[in-house]
Amino acid sequence: MRYNLVTLFPEWFDSPLSSGLMDKAREAGIVEFSFANPRDKSTDRHHSVDDRPYGGGPGMVLMLDPLVRTLRELAPCNGRKGRLIVLTPAGRPFTQQLARELAQEEELTLVCGRYEGFDARLFDLLPAEPVCVGEAVLNGGEAAALAVIEATARLQPGFMGKDESGDEESFSNGLLEYPQYSRPEEWNGRRVPEILLSGHHANIAKWRHEQALERTRTRRPD
Ligand code: SAM
Repeated sequence: MRYNLVTLFPEWFDSPLSSGLMDKAREAGIVEFSFANPRDKSTDRHHSVDDRPYGGGPGMVLMLDPLVRTLRELAPCNGRKGRLIVLTPAGRPFTQQLARELAQEEELTLVCGRYEGFDARLFDLLPAEPVCVGEAVLNGGEAAALAVIEATARLQPGFMGKDESGDEESFSNGLLEYPQYSRPEEWNGRRVPEILLSGHHANIAKWRHEQALERTRTRRPD
């Protein structure tokens, strides 16, 4: 999977893309990353990328020209495969289902906003899909793009230790994951549930399913 990251702050990604499994996946060629900075396409002498919003209001809006000229060089605008995802609170909710869908692509272009966001004409000019990673407003689109990368990269064959380790995770079957425990069996009087020590696989599976249902009911009644 190739990710093209469109960002004013490419250095923001240095650590998260070079740590843990992501670093290994990069070395193994499972994922690759390229960066494009709209500031490089700005033509004025200050390399401006933002301007005041028409109609007034606080903050600055990302100017169309540097962004469109950047994106026209990237997939899928130049006829290559892939999807163009624009990170914005005013977008389609990012879910595990959408992560699975996007993980099938060979290439994703992720556009990170800053300031008050994008000139709305961007969505008329290019096949851009607005995506929102949660109902809270972040400072910039880089953290949102990273959420999309993390969720889709780990679905690539070979990324996780065992490819099936995503099967019972939260959201994969409409439920949150059951509670997990590890050693020690007892810590300051808090014991691991006896059923998990029983070795009885069918009973453990039944208990886990009931726990997943209960957890989903209490934490996500919607
Ligand atoms: N004025 C915008 C609004 O109310 O929709 C918020 C702009 S936000 C401060 C700056 C950038 O952060 C956005 O352009 C977007 O790229 C990114 N961003 C913030 N929250 C996000 C979210 N929940 N999902 C996706 N991107 C987000």
